[in-house]
Amino acid sequence: MDSDSSESETQSSRLGTPPRKQRKRHYDQKYSKLWEKDKEFCGWLQESTKGEGYFYCKSCRCDLKCASGRFILNKHANSLKHEACVKGDFLFHGFMLSLV
Ligand SMILES: [Zn+2]
Repeated sequence: MDSDSSESETQSSRLGTPPRKQRKRHYDQKYSKLWEKDKEFCGWLQESTKGEGYFYCKSCRCDLKCASGRFILNKHANSLKHEACVKGDFLFHGFMLSLV
């Protein structure tokens, strides 16, 4: 039988240095009218009524944050949801309207 002598709890030095706060560069991208002229976005992009930090997708009928600007727009444009909405917009235009 081994009796482990309980090691006196050495107060292990806490990590002396506090973790550096990583500065999050948080730029709130504001909506830019210029984006509407982009052929990738024209047709569905619109100013949002929620504020400058948002854009509105006419096809998806949703307001989205334009947090990182064009990147987000691009992402949205290539999202399945959006594609479906664009097609749906075309196919079910009358149908959707009848739902509202
Ligand atoms: Zn969309």
